[in-house]
Amino acid sequence: MGSDMTDAPVPKHRDNVDQDQFLTILSREDALERFEAALFPRAVPSEQRRLSSALGCALAQDIVAPIDVPPFDRANVDGFAVRSADLASAGEAAPVRVTLNDEVIACGTAPTQPVLSGTATAIATGGPLPRGADAVVMVEHTQPVSQRAIEIRRAASPGQFVSYAGSDIARGEALLRAGSMIGSREIGMLAACGIAQVSVARRPRVAVISTGDELVQPGQPLGPAEIHDTNGAIVTAAVSENGGEAIFLGAVPDDEGQLEAAMRGALQTSDMLVLSGGTSKGAGDVSHRIIARLGKPGIIAHGVALKPGKPLCLAVCDGKPVVILPGFPTSAMFTFHDLIAPVLRRMAGLPPRSDAKVMAKVPVRIASELGRTEFVMVSLVEGADGLIAYPSGKGSGAITSFAQADGFLKIEALADQMPAGTQAEVTLFTPHVRVPDLVIVGSHCTGLDLVTAPLARAGVVVRSIAVGSLGGLAAARRGECDFAPIHLFDEATESYNTPFLMAGLELVPGWRRMQGIVFRAGDARFEGLNAQAAVHAALTDPGCIMVNRNQGAGTRILIGRLLGEARPDGYWNQPRSHNAVAAAVAQHRADWGMTIAPVAHAAGLGFIPFAEEHYDFALVTARTHRPAVQAFLAALKSEESRAALEQAGFRKA
Ligand code: AMP
Ligand code: MG
Repeated sequence: MGSDMTDAPVPKHRDNVDQDQFLTILSREDALERFEAALFPRAVPSEQRRLSSALGCALAQDIVAPIDVPPFDRANVDGFAVRSADLASAGEAAPVRVTLNDEVIACGTAPTQPVLSGTATAIATGGPLPRGADAVVMVEHTQPVSQRAIEIRRAASPGQFVSYAGSDIARGEALLRAGSMIGSREIGMLAACGIAQVSVARRPRVAVISTGDELVQPGQPLGPAEIHDTNGAIVTAAVSENGGEAIFLGAVPDDEGQLEAAMRGALQTSDMLVLSGGTSKGAGDVSHRIIARLGKPGIIAHGVALKPGKPLCLAVCDGKPVVILPGFPTSAMFTFHDLIAPVLRRMAGLPPRSDAKVMAKVPVRIASELGRTEFVMVSLVEGADGLIAYPSGKGSGAITSFAQADGFLKIEALADQMPAGTQAEVTLFTPHVRVPDLVIVGSHCTGLDLVTAPLARAGVVVRSIAVGSLGGLAAARRGECDFAPIHLFDEATESYNTPFLMAGLELVPGWRRMQGIVFRAGDARFEGLNAQAAVHAALTDPGCIMVNRNQGAGTRILIGRLLGEARPDGYWNQPRSHNAVAAAVAQHRADWGMTIAPVAHAAGLGFIPFAEEHYDFALVTARTHRPAVQAFLAALKSEESRAALEQAGFRKA
């Protein structure tokens, strides 16, 4: 893309930026290359830091050892400093007797008497060797014969149990190289040499601003239509992780004047500016217009063929990088780590990140958009022959997909899918991923967390991956999990779950969830009615709006039984979770829907019980013997889980 562009694509007509902004989408590689070309090479400014505050900094200069370590020849063991030649004839049958000199050399004691032939001086580990001595004999290999003499029954070689001056670090030796990250080991080496202060790369000051009228800082209550500012916290932490000094300036409303003032102020006091939000097309889209006024060369890339992260904007204003990350938190995180962290690390004098990678099989086909490099977060589980990487697809708006994932895989821009069965390289978020002991793949229920809580406390790593009942059964059939939680109603037999089991699976009873109609408490249309009567009342009121559930949801089948052929207002509003139904009713976007009792009660809604749903577990029989499976079965049967489930509104099967 963009082969005709020889320079940064700064929009020519500022008034037309809105129309132009996505016309010049660059590939991920082109965008990074242009961004780096506009910023580097550049000098990395340095500063002096005391050792105590140098942790995590990059050394700005090579360090040459100013002294020998140890500074003198010293004893490595507790014992006696001797002349090795005196002991040449010593053996089990031929002890050599030596006279003790009248001093004991402890750590920090400088010897005053020489060790003459036929004598020895008591010395502690770390004590300096006296003049004349060339070896140390361990106290265990000696016997006292009087107050003033010992016997030694072993010969000693010259240099035995002695560390010579400079044997650890020699004066003049190159100790550490410029660019090394200072960790505790490096700090130890510097301290041993007596170095109290080092020249380190100055951490770039990175101003962080969130944008959006809807943003509220964590700790403050949410008003209607407001959300918490997630990116402010994420970006601040990611800047610190990558060698920057983050200065968080809060969230600024989508107002051109206020935002421009904030951006100008930030650039005056910092080396880099990272904003988030306001990059997608829309009325609130103002920040990129401001960038064009802030300095040369301005916008380098606005729109990168990256998923998540397309609306990313990269700019350089008078030598300082200015970045606008996409608003969705996971998109903001991916683009930061992929395109911003490398630049920040270079500015901080740090080496590129070295992320750990593993190979894993992708069990399901992953569709991908042609022309965009796509990052897909995955959870790792242990399969019969190697690791399996499950895509954890919650969409770019979901922050939890990051927390539950172990890493990500990359689908190249030229691929439109990753076929099921592909062996893919997974970049790990943390180098030491622990593959879970127990894997639960299927329909998720909040009750599940109550049953697995004691396992987690006992150190069993439980991974539950929500893919719905049918997805869980497919995973169980492929042997990728221990349990598949399911709640599937079979209309033919009018029974739950058992009819859906396949060979190799067995049913473990879970619990019952009461499904029913939710409405706002006090709504006279529904109060006191049974489910059939409530739905009848709803259908006869043309102002009444319902909220449905998605195709394939067990709850939707229950709603269908009550609605028959009716398609009232709201029928096509089909959220995917019990909580979304409750939120729609609580927020007056709908008047009734169907959800499970615990969710209705937690949301403070009125509830009319309708039918009990069976939430059970398909156990992969071949995995029954595994200790974590046994632990889960025991937890399921325990009094603790029964009580917790009942407390939360479920009924144990
Ligand atoms: P925008 O690019 O401003 O249109 O934002 C895209 C989406 O990301 C919207 O749903 C925003 O509410 C959301 N968003 C933007 N900034 C933040 C932020 N700092 N924290 C959480 N969500 C955000
Ligand atoms: Mg916004």
